[in-house]
Amino acid sequence: HDDAQYLCSLIRSIPGFPQENILFRDFMPVFADPRGLDLLIQGLVNALPVKPSEFDYIAGLEARGFLIGIALAQKLNKGFIAVRKAGKLPPPVVSQSYDLEYGSATMEIEKDLVPSHSRILIVDDLIATGGTAWAAMKLFESIDCTVSGFSFVMKLDGLDGLAKLENHPTSTMMVMP
Ligand code: 5GP
Repeated sequence: HDDAQYLCSLIRSIPGFPQENILFRDFMPVFADPRGLDLLIQGLVNALPVKPSEFDYIAGLEARGFLIGIALAQKLNKGFIAVRKAGKLPPPVVSQSYDLEYGSATMEIEKDLVPSHSRILIVDDLIATGGTAWAAMKLFESIDCTVSGFSFVMKLDGLDGLAKLENHPTSTMMVMP
């Protein structure tokens, strides 16, 4: 309980960033704090939505999902896959677009990085609408991989992002108003 409180105390909330009407949750102070970093990664391990034997790779979503995902992958002895915003990865890539409130965005993975039938745990810092996580799920399905589950540090309350994830096992360490 003390640990949870300590972790929460490190997350900074910034109103009006990066746009008006957004309350941005800033994780960087967690990474900057040795105890916070350890609590975060150990907390994710303790909250895994499926057993480590049920996935082969961890996929992290740009950009904070890279930081969390790589630490988690190393700890669990899994490989790590970067799911990036379009245009950053060299070909061949597979792409998946998803809707934003205004317009759309595209995520990509390198096509030949994982063998087909691999089982993937997708991780990110935060789920809001679920669009980014959904796009990642579709990317892995399009190369004949299976999504074993999703791990998020935070879920934004009032947005039903998890509904987009088609009943896959999911864990969230905390829910933010
Ligand atoms: P979604 O696609 O679920 O609407 O948005 C989730 C993505 O946007 C995640 O990759 C997450 O890192 C980023 N994101 C959205 N809102 C916030 C926020 O308040 N704080 C942080 N750190 N990331 C956010």
